[in-house]
Amino acid sequence: MHWRSKLIHPGAHAPADFRSLTTPTYRGSTVVFERQADVSDDWRQTENGYTYGLYGTPTVLELGARIAEIEGAHHSFVVPGGQAAISLIYLAYCKTGTHALVPITAYGPNRELAGGLLKRLGISVEAYDPLIGSGIANLIRDDTALIWTESPGSVTMEIQDVPAIVAAAHERRVPVALDNTYAAGVLFDAFAHGVDLSMQALTKYVGGHSDLLLGTVSVAGAAAYEAVGSAYKQLGMAVSPDDCSLAIRGLLSLGVRLERLEKTALEVAGWLAKHPNVSSVLHPALESCPGHEYWHRDFTGSSSIFSIVFDERFTPAQVISFVDRLTLFKIGFSWGGVTSLAVVYPNLDRPGRDYAGRLVRLNVGLEESSDLIADLDQALNTMDAPA
Ligand SMILES: *Cc1c(COP(=O)(O)O)cnc(C)c1O
Repeated sequence: MHWRSKLIHPGAHAPADFRSLTTPTYRGSTVVFERQADVSDDWRQTENGYTYGLYGTPTVLELGARIAEIEGAHHSFVVPGGQAAISLIYLAYCKTGTHALVPITAYGPNRELAGGLLKRLGISVEAYDPLIGSGIANLIRDDTALIWTESPGSVTMEIQDVPAIVAAAHERRVPVALDNTYAAGVLFDAFAHGVDLSMQALTKYVGGHSDLLLGTVSVAGAAAYEAVGSAYKQLGMAVSPDDCSLAIRGLLSLGVRLERLEKTALEVAGWLAKHPNVSSVLHPALESCPGHEYWHRDFTGSSSIFSIVFDERFTPAQVISFVDRLTLFKIGFSWGGVTSLAVVYPNLDRPGRDYAGRLVRLNVGLEESSDLIADLDQALNTMDAPA
């Protein structure tokens, strides 16, 4: 053969049987079949063998299988991010003319999708009070196709009575989806609490180093597997095997990171709760957090993110200057990495609770708690000065 053909069809290869502790990164679009009769385009690769890279290479399926194992799921689909996981669930379950329920405290882009593309498709998504519990029964209609839960809620951290919502939903045969990102898929056992679909942004705790975007949709059983799988295929939600390889590495240290983040966050939150400038600390493990009793009943731990509400004597400008004065806490979205973060939420849609620019969300990282407290202390002590 000409050397140009040899480039494509090499005869020489590395020796086989490399026994490493790590998962190889398999990149690939085309999957080669032995015979024409074997050719298929089936997304059910776990059962029926590999057909196309779009439905996952071995690296992607390895990550999905490991997530499914720790979450106790029937199967976990790996998708490009947490928001992609949210879209996939909506599109798998809702169609024109149907109705869905979502907590008003849901992740902002979830509600944006509801009021944007989904509305345009004729799907009506209604926001509900996250603390509604079994009262959700009154909102379920004959055309309700999906009920979302997210516990704790984004930014304001309300813990939901998920089992009560599941009971009311299943009474009317409506599937329940959970955004389980806060719990990293482990601190709240979604499937033991009856949820049908649980998604998380692996971007947060599983990735753990602010260097990748991925999500998972985990399903409880065969019916959800078929519904989500067929939408997954049609939407072409492929992910990068390289990112999956990083996420698999993240999983290896997830246990120690979560343990440390919980401890540091509790130390910092406990210190803030005693500070005279702070009127309340919205941390699921503290009694001051709405729905704390459900956290106590249903969760096995807390993680790194919580919010603080400043005393009413402070103006929004002083709250912004507090955040600007922080040095170890960086200003930014996303969380679950190694770096502490702070961000002000000036406009929150929270009926009956006007935080009026006095709420700051904090993400605690892997720094030493004494240094984080010193950073908060210096910023708190200077915000009192008139702007
Ligand atoms: C970050 C986040 C998402 C979205 O995840 P991306 O990977 O950034 O798309 C979804 N839900 C919650 C609760 C999140 O915090």
